[in-house]
Amino acid sequence: MSVITCPACNAYLGLAAAGAAECPRCSAPLPTAQPPANKKAWAARRAAKRAECNERNNDPVGEPPSAERDVVVGGLWLCGGLAVTAISYSVAEEQGGGRFILAWGAILFGGAQFLRGLVKMSS
Ligand SMILES: [Zn+2]
Repeated sequence: MSVITCPACNAYLGLAAAGAAECPRCSAPLPTAQPPANKKAWAARRAAKRAECNERNNDPVGEPPSAERDVVVGGLWLCGGLAVTAISYSVAEEQGGGRFILAWGAILFGGAQFLRGLVKMSS
């Protein structure tokens, strides 16, 4: 509840001047309904809450890649690499140089991940 008294002329203005920026009698600037101290405390509390929230959000939620995921992803890369190799080999043998390198990368990368997943699963 804000009862406003003009700090300049000391006149009681009441709730009628609650939203006014200046005194209707002497035109002196009126203090805002919320004192700066409260506002500051509120802002600090809000900042603390936000920091706490951020901290929670920054927590590592995603679990480390599982062995099954390695097998699936590696298998996909391996199959994709083999497919690209097969296609480029049979369809465009004369212009498949770049694609070959890419496909072999996929096969090696996928195969390695696939095997790593298998090893992790068996252990
Ligand atoms: Zn006044």
